[in-house]
Amino acid sequence: MIYFDNAATTKLLPEVFDSMKTYYLDDFGNPNSKYYSFATTAKNAVDESRKKISENLRCRTDEIVFTSGATESNNFIIKSVSEFYGKGTIISTPIEHSSVSETLMSLSKNIKVVYTKLNLNGTINLDHYLDIFESNKDVFLTTINFVNSDTGIIQDLKMISDIANAKGSLFHSDITQSVGKIAFNFSIYPNVDFISLSAHKFHGPKGIGAAIIRKDSNGLKRILRPIHHGGDQEYGYRGGTLNTPGIVGMAKAIEIACENLDKNIKYVKNLDKYFHNLIEDKKNISLLNKDYEKLPGYYSLWILGLNNELFLKKVSNFVAASTGSACSNSKPSKTLIELGHDLNIIRETVRITLDYSNTKLEIEEFLSLFEEKK
Ligand code: PMP
Repeated sequence: MIYFDNAATTKLLPEVFDSMKTYYLDDFGNPNSKYYSFATTAKNAVDESRKKISENLRCRTDEIVFTSGATESNNFIIKSVSEFYGKGTIISTPIEHSSVSETLMSLSKNIKVVYTKLNLNGTINLDHYLDIFESNKDVFLTTINFVNSDTGIIQDLKMISDIANAKGSLFHSDITQSVGKIAFNFSIYPNVDFISLSAHKFHGPKGIGAAIIRKDSNGLKRILRPIHHGGDQEYGYRGGTLNTPGIVGMAKAIEIACENLDKNIKYVKNLDKYFHNLIEDKKNISLLNKDYEKLPGYYSLWILGLNNELFLKKVSNFVAASTGSACSNSKPSKTLIELGHDLNIIRETVRITLDYSNTKLEIEEFLSLFEEKK
């Protein structure tokens, strides 16, 4: 099977699985229980994992709130901040993941959401971004994706978060698609107040992630309210028994991803070059996201005359790919629609997402499916 759907999820690394096992089978105690050894061992594992994650993301240990993943983190941060302010404006983009865009749509009528226009390369239009702040003096939150899940488009997090801060807005970014693919250091983005991530996007386990909440002299944390009530775990922000194996696995996965980051980036860039060379002369294939400011390894591959759904179904025994984000897979990619692509072309487009686990041979085999008949 050629697995070209790494933006949807990634394969768990065996060493990550090994690190988790004992917390299912032996040290299975509740980390919040007291006195007996396999609960305290679990508590120590959570503490050590928190430390490991904080070292790799360069945040403080007490800025990490473990959640079930980015969907929950996005909901928690956006709803919680909105509830605190009660009314005002939120700035976002029209190409956010559904766990951001649908959360924004669920907010009370007192909260207005304004979406930035995009440049032709997919980045947010700076003039429009500044205009929105000019015409709305009550912006309390800006939420903008770091890397787009449909196309790999990268936003300039530093610049847009610095502007948001200068205009008096808090800043949240869903960084789910970037971990293990771009160096991320919470301390070099001092004006990013909140981030969301999921471990399964960087070869960690599913069902575990985090909301990172900057702690500073403003006591930012005090404005947040839990969306899950019923426990004082995670500083009272997220009740529920801690997922010890998941947390341990997430820490191991992030450690491996960060240790190998430079090597993996180089490898995927090389695959990217190879991919571009192979499709360059093909008349029936082009990339809709070729000119975007994007990560290597993300391709919106337009194959002339192909029905993307029928194709993916037909090849599903040997190729795993998708039409866009797995969380909105019944709809055409809204990112491509927003960027002005024709709906008929989008229906002939397949999203393939490669990472360091893929090979040149897989690219060749995949592209051979579209050989033009002579
Ligand atoms: N944000 C982005 C950018 C994503 O790609 C995803 C996963 N498709 C999510 C949020 C949601 O992650 P999860 O399903 O792990 O909650």
